[in-house]
Amino acid sequence: MNTRLAAGRSYLAIPGPSVMPDRVLRAMHRAAPNIYEGALHDMMSPLLDDLKGLAGGAEECAIYIANGHGAWEAALCNVLAPGDRVLALATGRFGHGWAEIAAGLDARVEMLDFGQRATVDIARLEAALAADPGQGLRAVLLTHVDTASSVRNDVAAVRAALDAADHPALLMVDCIASLGCDRFEMARWGVDVMVAGSQKGLMTPPGLGFVFFNARAKARRGAVGCRSRYWDWRPRTEPARFYEYFGGTAPTHHLYGLREALDMIAEEGRDDVLARHAVLARAIWACFEAWGQGGPAELNIADAALRSHAVTAIRIGADHGARLREWTEKQTGVTLGIGLGMVPPGDPAEGGFFRIGHMGHVNAHMVLGTLAAIQAGFEALGIPYGPGGLDAAAGICAAG
Ligand SMILES: *Cc1c(COP(=O)(O)O)cnc(C)c1O
Repeated sequence: MNTRLAAGRSYLAIPGPSVMPDRVLRAMHRAAPNIYEGALHDMMSPLLDDLKGLAGGAEECAIYIANGHGAWEAALCNVLAPGDRVLALATGRFGHGWAEIAAGLDARVEMLDFGQRATVDIARLEAALAADPGQGLRAVLLTHVDTASSVRNDVAAVRAALDAADHPALLMVDCIASLGCDRFEMARWGVDVMVAGSQKGLMTPPGLGFVFFNARAKARRGAVGCRSRYWDWRPRTEPARFYEYFGGTAPTHHLYGLREALDMIAEEGRDDVLARHAVLARAIWACFEAWGQGGPAELNIADAALRSHAVTAIRIGADHGARLREWTEKQTGVTLGIGLGMVPPGDPAEGGFFRIGHMGHVNAHMVLGTLAAIQAGFEALGIPYGPGGLDAAAGICAAG
């Protein structure tokens, strides 16, 4: 590598934080606004309505100045008392992460782990629900898209299993990776609590956490009493004063950025945003399927119906993933995501994985450019690959 080719606009192709649109950046570039009255106050009600609509008809939305981990904790704090039993469904890394937060709040966590390459096995879930003594489980924690494995779980099927067992546990879903990328229908799918964050499909810097909930969850909040004044979602959803929306000073500039991002989603149309993510994801899969015919790269999730439209996890063996990431960043300006949760941290096999984020402000040239940069990396590093990957991806973008 004699001539470096990375000057020009760099591209962060990782699964969050995602690319921030120039419009979002410009909307944030302003003097500190008046927090006592005026535009900032007026923007709240439509902002919340738009968030609820994007979530597929959520009833309530509380906003926290927090990342996704904070949203996890906020959600749990409102519906669990110490000693409550919860069932966590893990399909990668993030189901474990949410379970760890629950354990930290003194919940008794039971785990069904479906490994790194599969969706929730509904039969195992049904058996666990049927065997639950006195239907004492308070909540089932599900990750819609696990960003580590890139599996997408069937939320409606989990709801159906709870209904079939006539089980009263709340269905709580992590949509931090999926909101605005993979279809999610909070009302239709009977989800009681959903958590999301600003920095993935919502194209806004990290720092806003969202907890959506319905009347059942609200009733549970009343029954358990929230132990944390700060995480309590009640003042945030029924504020008597503006500062109660945020439990303190408003995240002023994040709100302007988010407003702009929601406007962009509304202008494109929610269905069209989801369709764009679906086509771009299929282009990536087709490319890797062709490459995999003649080399070590392999999509982590074999069944296309179970793959997320927001992120793709790839297994490539040896230290190919780590070398490729380094090469594409230095030589092409494309930063790929690290593998996550596939092997224990520190395991030498860690370098054999990588991920591509394709969430939010992503179009065909960004995806095709990323794939071509990866192929250049394969060439430069002597990693074999089958022919026709880029052709397949271009063909899918051409068909739309
Ligand atoms: C990113 C992510 C999280 C964690 O969010 P942070 O903002 O990093 O705390 C949790 N769950 C899923 C599914 C995610 O993709």
